[in-house]
Amino acid sequence: MEDAGVIIGLEIHCQLNTKSKMFCSCSTDFRDNEPNTHTCPVCLGLPGSMPTINKRAIEFALRVAKALNCEILEEAEFSRKNYFYPDLDKAYQITQYDKPLAERGRLLIDGDNGERDIRITRIHLEEDPGRSVHMGTTDRGKYTLVDYNRSGIPLIEIVTEPDLRSPKEARKFLNKLRATLEYLDVFDSEKEGSLRVDANISIKGSERVEVKNISSYKGVEKALTFEVTRQKNLLRRNQPVTRETRHFVEARGITTSSRSKEEENDYRYFPEPDLLPLRVSDWVEGIILPELPDARRERFISRYGCSAEHAKTLTGELKLADFFEKVADNDPSLASTWIADYLLGELNYRDFSIDAMPVEHFRQLLSLLKKETITDKSGVEILRIILDTVKEGKSPEMPETIVSRLGLAKTGGNQVQDMIREVIAEQPAAVSDYYAGKMQALNFLVGQVMKKCRGRADPGELNRLLIEALKKD
Ligand code: ZN
Ligand code: MN
Repeated sequence: MEDAGVIIGLEIHCQLNTKSKMFCSCSTDFRDNEPNTHTCPVCLGLPGSMPTINKRAIEFALRVAKALNCEILEEAEFSRKNYFYPDLDKAYQITQYDKPLAERGRLLIDGDNGERDIRITRIHLEEDPGRSVHMGTTDRGKYTLVDYNRSGIPLIEIVTEPDLRSPKEARKFLNKLRATLEYLDVFDSEKEGSLRVDANISIKGSERVEVKNISSYKGVEKALTFEVTRQKNLLRRNQPVTRETRHFVEARGITTSSRSKEEENDYRYFPEPDLLPLRVSDWVEGIILPELPDARRERFISRYGCSAEHAKTLTGELKLADFFEKVADNDPSLASTWIADYLLGELNYRDFSIDAMPVEHFRQLLSLLKKETITDKSGVEILRIILDTVKEGKSPEMPETIVSRLGLAKTGGNQVQDMIREVIAEQPAAVSDYYAGKMQALNFLVGQVMKKCRGRADPGELNRLLIEALKKD
């Protein structure tokens, strides 16, 4: 996928997590509510209703613009984008057109060939339409319901230049963007549909295709990979790539051709007559940015001595970075290793986020490992027990309790020596193989001792002790 010629640009819609909607005071917190319960004349677009701008949404968008190193324009303006769709009952979306909030930014990503700046074309603010709920499948459903609770949620649309060179880079860009938005505290990635992506993709020298409806950042790499393969296959057969809009069908991992794309002038954009232009450039000074992912990564390296790789992993997600700092005080290097190399895999496997791991449990596990009360192998076992218990919806036992219940404390010196003597007595054939220079025999003997102590000994240490015991005087 990383060969030359793939050109990708993204348009990303992110919901800003303000308390109220973009142009009215309806609450945005409706996750557990009935449909159409958070609506008013403004977000339903009833005639005669007047929008007012949510100041917080502007501030959030300015934070993003600043963090993405954009130029904030002297004057921004809202426009109406006219089209009809059942989830947009007032038949226009209030958005920004020729005077967006900010332009010409960049975001540093860890690209296919090292770090690279991806240029941001523009950032603008707009309102989310409502949500269509298809009963059955889109093409064969009996009917569709519309929920206007989402109508009027503030969105920022971030448009990149066509600077991405592979589906993997596109995923990395989105991960970095998501982390940045979380650090800025303007975005909740766990809300369904909080991030939606459209992608423009082409192979150098041929037409561009727009892929719409990618509603998860995991879906982006899949959709783009499918599309790159499809376009390359066409070109290989000397067939042209047609300029078109395609739809990503997430369940099947494919894109299908949909309507031909509207031209920009089909939308008949014009300035929103009910809102004054925004003059926010003098606010910019007052926007103070928190520590962002790159700065935090540097701090993890300098303050905690994390490896570059661990620091990158740990700061790639705000909650993960916070978790690390809550458990790092005792032994940062042990903590970063156990989070990055063990915990994350166990979480992924269970489809868990870092929230699933109780901080106190993890702290105690680290201290047992530091005191060498348990082996790494038992450490992993304890992690799994804790997470499996959480998965069952129960509260897990503390690691110390698990250690004593299962007898996981490391087998001590004398016990191990006894076991080694027993194994040497029980396995004369392996012992003489060892003396004959067969190294597999030693591994076999280590395995036998391990079996006797049920894995509660350190394998490296056992190896050493066995060699010692087998020395002829
Ligand atoms: Zn409303
Ligand atoms: Mn948009």
